[in-house]
Amino acid sequence: MHEMSLAVDLMELVKRYVPPSAYLMTVTVRIGPMHGVVAEALQWAWSAVRGQSAWPQAKLVIETPPWRLSCPRCGRLWEPATVDEHCTCGSVHADIEGGDEFALVSVEVADSDESVENQPRPEVVGHCGLATVV
Ligand SMILES: [Zn+2]
Repeated sequence: MHEMSLAVDLMELVKRYVPPSAYLMTVTVRIGPMHGVVAEALQWAWSAVRGQSAWPQAKLVIETPPWRLSCPRCGRLWEPATVDEHCTCGSVHADIEGGDEFALVSVEVADSDESVENQPRPEVVGHCGLATVV
């Protein structure tokens, strides 16, 4: 299952960003529409993977960037409503730009020294940029 191996790879990557004393709260990823990942399937796979990690409550947030087309004739770049939308210059050809990325956007952790009754103060430990997972 594609999503299951993605979730396993993602957890391996995320582990590098969680300090030993911290608790993983939220993982945010960006998955382009061209990547072919089913968000629901990835959420399900993540539930299975996190259940075997030290952070069984860790949340996965999936961002999906919009489609983008570029026109080879006039160089216009835009976000179309449909994939076969034509450029305003009249060119019937357009190239799909990006959309196949799978990127780790952010990893949010909380200090495990705080008790559960305390107001959790999640902190973003860092944006690792567009680190490609696959
Ligand atoms: Zn054009």
